[in-house]
Amino acid sequence: YKAKALPGTAALHYDEGMAASDQSYLGAELREAIRDDQLFLLYQPIVSLADGRVLGAEALVRWAHPVHGTLAPDTFIPVAERTGLIVPLGRWVLRRAVRELAGWDTDIVLNVNISARDLREPGFAFYVGALLDAYEISGSRIALEVTESMPIDPAASESTLAGLRALGVRVSLDDFGTGASTLAMLHDVPVDEVKLDRTFTQAVPSERAPVAAAVLQVAGALGLHAVAEGVETRDQADRLRALGYAAAQGFLFGRPMPAADFGRMLERDALT
Ligand code: C2E
Ligand code: CA
Ligand code: CA
Ligand code: CA
Repeated sequence: YKAKALPGTAALHYDEGMAASDQSYLGAELREAIRDDQLFLLYQPIVSLADGRVLGAEALVRWAHPVHGTLAPDTFIPVAERTGLIVPLGRWVLRRAVRELAGWDTDIVLNVNISARDLREPGFAFYVGALLDAYEISGSRIALEVTESMPIDPAASESTLAGLRALGVRVSLDDFGTGASTLAMLHDVPVDEVKLDRTFTQAVPSERAPVAAAVLQVAGALGLHAVAEGVETRDQADRLRALGYAAAQGFLFGRPMPAADFGRMLERDALT
């Protein structure tokens, strides 16, 4: 493929119009990247709106591409989804995330993004269970985020969801409120958490604020955790707390950061 960026600028972009040959080239490179550990994770804190304490983090994947520099997930996750590489990529992410979590002396919950496809993979829950065992991590310290914008097949996902539940692993519905069938999804897919999409977070206090309030009510009625994503200003944080949100994530509290930096943030947090 033709990089639309100078080396290192990370502006290389996947788009629907990308030639099939370019996509398959990127796919071949991605296969090697997974094998050769060119991927790495950044961690973005999820904090308590009541006292600012770190409750957890979301792991976000990056690709340290040898020519194009650091690539954001939007440039390669869609290709991974199309080529099936999302399965080995997802397992790489889980492995790395659980390993790094095991290295921190804390009881935070780590959110890891998975694909709707993982929920249909027989053996996915077994894989997660084996990983937790290997690192002696309790299932309750992991939440798996599945984005609402990808179709989840409730029947085909049932046994994996039951397996994850048996492990105590939480399932979180990401980008909540943006999907085509938000409430139907909650009805059909048993989840433990919803993440209010940042388009709604950032619309607080404007005319879309009622969505943030309604999502919290729905979550409350169903006994689900609710996390507000994409909080950038103190004003947004204050209003979300006033609405009743307990947990939030966004640039205001911390950008996605390397594991070592997040580890230090946890140490500082433990002292206060
Ligand atoms: P997401 O799961 O909705 O992740 C949140 C995205 O919003 C992240 O972008 C994060 O950097 C960004 N963000 C966080 N706080 C703020 C804020 O206050 N303001 C704004 N404007 N943005 C904020 P990122 O890291 O580029 O990830 C993009 C998407 O890529 C993720 O969206 C997720 O869908 C996907 N992704 C990331 N890591 C993985 C992974 O390991 N596996 C899979 N399957 N998908 C992943
Ligand atoms: Ca997510
Ligand atoms: Ca999200
Ligand atoms: Ca998103």
